[in-house]
Amino acid sequence: MKLKMTSKEKRELLLEILFTLVLLLAADFAIYILLNEWTRHIPGVASGIFDIKMSLTLGPNTVKFGNWGLLFVFIATVFDSFILYWRIVHQYRQIQLYHVISELHYIASGHFDHRIPFVLNGSMQRVVESINALVDSTVESMKEERRIEKSKDELITNVSHDIRTPLTSIIGYLGLIENKQYQSEEDLIKFAHIAFVKSNQMKSLVNDLFEYTKVRQADTPLNLMTVSLMSLFEQLEASFELEAKEKGMAISTKMPDGDLKLEADPEKFARIFNNLITNALKYGKGGKNIYLSARRMSDDEIEVQVSNDGEPIPHDSLPQVFERFYRVEKSRNQKTGGTGLGLAITQRIVELHHGTIKVESNNHLTTFVMRFPVEQPSKEEKVEELD
Ligand code: ATP
Ligand code: MG
Repeated sequence: MKLKMTSKEKRELLLEILFTLVLLLAADFAIYILLNEWTRHIPGVASGIFDIKMSLTLGPNTVKFGNWGLLFVFIATVFDSFILYWRIVHQYRQIQLYHVISELHYIASGHFDHRIPFVLNGSMQRVVESINALVDSTVESMKEERRIEKSKDELITNVSHDIRTPLTSIIGYLGLIENKQYQSEEDLIKFAHIAFVKSNQMKSLVNDLFEYTKVRQADTPLNLMTVSLMSLFEQLEASFELEAKEKGMAISTKMPDGDLKLEADPEKFARIFNNLITNALKYGKGGKNIYLSARRMSDDEIEVQVSNDGEPIPHDSLPQVFERFYRVEKSRNQKTGGTGLGLAITQRIVELHHGTIKVESNNHLTTFVMRFPVEQPSKEEKVEELD
């Protein structure tokens, strides 16, 4: 859309043109009279002008200026046109600037969905584009800020809810003990046991929360080292062997390309697998196997999978499982504990390692598929990425 001038502005521009014209004509007239006087009294000047006149010819030396007055009219017309053009351009720019400023005031008064709608020419258009881009990015960061604020509120609500539930029963059972409202020593032990289990649940929530807020920050430092997937898998197998046996499950490892090594923060990287295997043990109802596998996709990419058989994740829940505090509804009612932060932490650690994670689930297997670069980008490369 082109800039539309108001009728007042049009009138002002016209007046400006007329005023400039009158001034220029008056100046021309004054100069003409002065020159006339001058040439009459100083003959040298007259012959000088005559020489200039003779050298200025139109066409092949046939049409010549008759007297110097004609030459003056010619020069004055060119000069006046130039001045007039310059004044019009200047005045028009002022009008454009005025429009841009009033649009800016309009936006600044809270109309952040408004953008400067008109197209100007030359450098003024660049100013308009820059202002629009600036408003865009400001609005974007305001939205982001609001989103973060909202998600913090949600976090607090969820945490207080999840802390209150076990805390209520801890206080309830300890109250029974305190008031000696138990019939036998057996009861006493039972109440103390429930309070102990609930306290542990709270501890694990607080630990998860602490871990989550720690890895969530964009500048979380990674203590990078070369990690051998073969030995990581061996360690995981050993540490989960007993728990798996108790649940009637077995952990097995598949590495078709032999041992694979990649650059990672060993502690955080192991946390990914701890979370996934714990989930497989907790939620793979009726399952018998947990598989850990790794293969090379290319010279600089490795795919790692953690899968288990047993009860699948419902199709509708698949997109949400990585959201913090999300737990598949069915499992919330079962006595599996958990706060729904495990997979959010896992995903964040994968992202910190510049990897990707996705989940697939069918009646046979639930599989978490991750891809990692063999080497982490150096600091310089990261700066380039940001650029
Ligand atoms: P936390 O890990 O914080 O103790 P959680 O295990 O409930 O709690 P996540 O690990 O984030 O939370 O998992 C989210 C939900 O995804 C789980 O509640 C569960 O319903 C589902 N889920 C995760 N892994 C599996 C799996 N291997 N099989 C079936 N369901 C799963
Ligand atoms: Mg979990």
